[in-house]
Amino acid sequence: METSCIFCKIVAGEIPSYKVYEDAHALAFLDIHPVTKGHTLVIPKQHATNIFDIEEGSWSHVAETVRVVARMLESSLSLDGVNLMMNNREVAGQVIDHPHVHLIPRRTGDGLRHWPHEKYEEGEAQRFAARIATGHL
Ligand code: 5GP
Ligand code: ZN
Repeated sequence: METSCIFCKIVAGEIPSYKVYEDAHALAFLDIHPVTKGHTLVIPKQHATNIFDIEEGSWSHVAETVRVVARMLESSLSLDGVNLMMNNREVAGQVIDHPHVHLIPRRTGDGLRHWPHEKYEEGEAQRFAARIATGHL
């Protein structure tokens, strides 16, 4: 537990939350400021900062818990779909420095829009793929 981390405090029960799922290694609870109603966060109980430092097994369990909770949301709230989202580091919108995956319930006609798109120049996508695949960034 990281004493200054509010999600660690939620895990420890020091800050109240509306829990929807819990097991030995992961916790799912309602986001306090939902994008849509039922917006849920899945977190590892073990503290880390984000995707860049989370321990492999901890992440695997979070990922599987996301799948389980997505199905719980779908059946209990009769959702039409769900968006999964994870903000990693400040530039990406991360505010709480403890890994968390957002599950955002989607309903037909809810009006939420996706991000805008960029365009690759000629040959650029090939270069990006090669750089990523070979690890030369
Ligand atoms: P981030 O921007 O870091 O990806 O998302 C952090 C999320 O945590 C936000 O959506 C915010 O509403 C939620 N949040 C922040 N503080 C609390 C809290 O004390 N309790 C709960 N349930 N959610 C919180
Ligand atoms: Zn933490």
